[in-house]
Amino acid sequence: MESAEQATRQRIAALLRRYWGFDSFRPVQERIILSVMQGRDTLALLPTGGGKSLTYQIPALAGEGLCIVVTPLVALMKDQVDRLRRQGIRALAIHSGLSARQIDIDLDNCVYGDVKFLYLAPERLVSEAFRLRVRRMRIALLAVDEAHCISQWGYDFRPSYLRIAELRELLPGVPVLALTASATPRVAEDIMEKLRFSAPHLLRGDFMRPNLSYSVRRTDDKNEQLLRVIRNVGGSGIVYVRTREGAEQVAAMLHDEGIAAGYYHGGLSHAERVARQDDWISGRTPVMVATNAFGMGIDKADVRYVVHYTMSDSLESYYQEAGRAGRDGGRSYALLLVAPDDRERVARRFEAEYPPLDRVRSIYEKICSFLQIALGDGAGSCHPFNLREFCSREHLYDGTVRSALKILSQNGYMTLIEESVNPARLLFCISRDDLYRLRVVRDDLDHIVRVLLRLYEGVFTDFRPIDEEEIARWSGYTTDKVRELLKRLWQLRVIRYIPANRSPLLCMDEERLPVADLYISPESYRLRRERTRERFERMLAYAAEEEGCRSAFLARHFGEENPPDCGICDICLARKRQGGTDPGTDPERLLLRLLAGGALEPRQIAAAMPLAPEKTAALLDRLRDEGKISVGKEGKVAINR
Ligand code: ADP
Ligand code: MG
Repeated sequence: MESAEQATRQRIAALLRRYWGFDSFRPVQERIILSVMQGRDTLALLPTGGGKSLTYQIPALAGEGLCIVVTPLVALMKDQVDRLRRQGIRALAIHSGLSARQIDIDLDNCVYGDVKFLYLAPERLVSEAFRLRVRRMRIALLAVDEAHCISQWGYDFRPSYLRIAELRELLPGVPVLALTASATPRVAEDIMEKLRFSAPHLLRGDFMRPNLSYSVRRTDDKNEQLLRVIRNVGGSGIVYVRTREGAEQVAAMLHDEGIAAGYYHGGLSHAERVARQDDWISGRTPVMVATNAFGMGIDKADVRYVVHYTMSDSLESYYQEAGRAGRDGGRSYALLLVAPDDRERVARRFEAEYPPLDRVRSIYEKICSFLQIALGDGAGSCHPFNLREFCSREHLYDGTVRSALKILSQNGYMTLIEESVNPARLLFCISRDDLYRLRVVRDDLDHIVRVLLRLYEGVFTDFRPIDEEEIARWSGYTTDKVRELLKRLWQLRVIRYIPANRSPLLCMDEERLPVADLYISPESYRLRRERTRERFERMLAYAAEEEGCRSAFLARHFGEENPPDCGICDICLARKRQGGTDPGTDPERLLLRLLAGGALEPRQIAAAMPLAPEKTAALLDRLRDEGKISVGKEGKVAINR
């Protein structure tokens, strides 16, 4: 038995080296992988950046068969697939942006080909095309990323995640690995229950960030505090604000103070966003003022500070956003700015986001009219939906509309998909007969019309997603030529054509109903309201905390039972200045905790420790003499196990 496990360890370590070039697993990673390989249903709770992807990728590579990965964001899905492909591993992603034909081809490849990873958007789970094929696939593992989305207690509940339980029924004996960075104990339990774990099994990573110093500052003048941090800390940083206008104003203020700051929010075009992101990553504009649209999937290690100019909606979001500082292990700062009237403001925001049920119904009607969906129509259709435009036309607050949409979605009426990429869409303006009568004058136009009709059904009744590359493949033209021809047909009023874009989509889960028939379960409404209130309250409690260590506060929130004090947050530091002794600041424990995250160079250690460099050096010497740590070939210091 011993030796079997030993052999497995060696095998997975070899895979890690071969495909990723890494020397060792992070502490919990290996335990998660071994658990999955024993066939146990497992919930892995690891902070963002903790290396969750490897924990399903390695077991899949170590065995036969295919790994299905359910994940909610198309952009991240594509990113993962590209990454695996570059490593020479066959991976596919299936989401609503693909044509039905492409999806069929891909699914067939999963049945007959040697595809190793199939990434799926949760709403695809219910599709007939998928359900028919999945039984014939040889599936080794079901991985559920962002697993908190399955829980109504979580901050990002998505009803489509509940379908995963049905998938489990189709796949008896296939273990599930659920992954998340944010689950309170209650959410964790709920995840295991909703995913029908055969037995609860949770493996938790370390949520303490020994090099990140948290603090909260109560102030009447947030700008002054912000400037102080930017000037004193230096390096790259992120300033989070709640609204788009806020982002622009704060960036302008920083500009006036002579600080190179950019802003980023969902209202910018894709090209602008990419450019601003690049400027920040390269360090040309060290400060990024952003809404929470910024950060997902961005890998910048040397962020020195994250300042929250306004509170996040939940402590989970706060932890994730603040945690973008200091990935390189160097000392970094997470500051929350609080104005005296913020509590009240949060309370008002909360009320505004909870429209009474009548209001929800009226918003439903307005959206249907805005999208020109007639009564009894629209089931299953998707429409590009500009929330801002809608709000300004109807004089509604966008928080209210979002909240109404969440409620409508949970009751199965309509779903807003805020994907960053939408496929091009197309609808013929003239009937099939007229089309044949209208002799399209140019051969190339004629050809493209034929290809369109062959590839896409239903283009005479509804906007259908099309794939310009697929059309290019079938027509033999280049993608550019295809786009040009589509534009031409559009000018000739033969088709209506929406080029690929990044606006959100609103999908009707049901036909449009008369408002009187709209049933919204009061229970779901009440629960949602309560849970949101609880989340706000936790965030406010963090902001109001004056006694206990901030890192420990956060760690407890994520279910750690007796987290030690960090010794470097504002509260620990204040206590230290008052001369109190603090067991949590014991430098040895701090150092070992730091190294638990992986081997580090002495220089990195010195930067992260709250000690003078020579004291850190002395401590390293002592621990080495005591045999607790050692220095490896490349000069990195590691814990002896
Ligand atoms: P998460 O999904 O938990 O946020 P990822 O799986 O995206 O994290 O991994 C974050 C980063 O950490 C990636 O760049 C990954 O290559 C790196 N990483 C993961 N595991 C290890 C390891 N054992 N050694 C070194 N780097 C790792
Ligand atoms: Mg991830």
